[in-house]
Amino acid sequence: MKLILSRTMGYCKGVSRALDLATSALQEAKDAHKPVYSLGKLIHNDDTCAFFADQGMQVITGAEGHEPGLVVLRAHGVPERVRSSFVEAGFDLVDATCPVVKHNLSRISAYAPTHTILIVGHPGHPETLAMRGVQCEGKVCDTILISGPEDVGTPEPSKSYVVFVQTTFDQGLWNTIQKALREWEQYGCTMLFANEVCPSSINRRQATLELTDACDAVVVIGGKESANTRALYQLVREKGKMAWHIENETEITDDMRSYDILGITAGASTPSLVIQRVIDRLQQE
Ligand code: SF4
Repeated sequence: MKLILSRTMGYCKGVSRALDLATSALQEAKDAHKPVYSLGKLIHNDDTCAFFADQGMQVITGAEGHEPGLVVLRAHGVPERVRSSFVEAGFDLVDATCPVVKHNLSRISAYAPTHTILIVGHPGHPETLAMRGVQCEGKVCDTILISGPEDVGTPEPSKSYVVFVQTTFDQGLWNTIQKALREWEQYGCTMLFANEVCPSSINRRQATLELTDACDAVVVIGGKESANTRALYQLVREKGKMAWHIENETEITDDMRSYDILGITAGASTPSLVIQRVIDRLQQE
């Protein structure tokens, strides 16, 4: 069996930066004798989360019931009321929101007074929740969520709409939704598309397409909750090739080794160490 690695896989810049900030927060909390938390799982990778848990970082879902300390806000961002609740409770924020995501959040609030805001994202995804939790003049901005083409109904005629997309959203799905939303212009609406899927996600997708063409089957490594990992898996399947979505080397099966050329790719929150372990295990007879 020959292994081919995707030319782009693993951490995006936003995730790398968040992990660096979380590592510094561990030390800072230790020096200050304060507890250290992450608001939700730092990334969609259990091994990495276990590493930070071993160092004393507790995963919490809110400020209530916890002794104030340092709290790391992860790369996807958080709704503003959540951020304020930690400040009011006396926590020190370590804001690891990816700068690209942060820029989008500030633009949502800037457009709120003049446009109806459409958010294209997965319901429940932290970045989508953050986008839907932006405030303007002390109030949560009204937003409409679109998760698939079936959510694109008909608009209110002659309205101005601005559309924001989750940075890790599947590019193919985004293209379809965008096309459907452009049809709203025939109702006299103004459609403004404020951002795009992150180039890091686009490159990873493109590299996976190339990899799929060059291989008989593809192993996609990443957390089971990771939207971008799931999208990569789906992409390979849509191209008619066999694929597996695994979290780490313990999920490798003999079936994977039965293909002549096996491709390897990984989502944006998969550590290089985990990728390497999968490669090593696959190469063992
Ligand atoms: S995918 Fe792009 S925008 Fe999203 S966290 Fe990573 S670098 Fe930032």
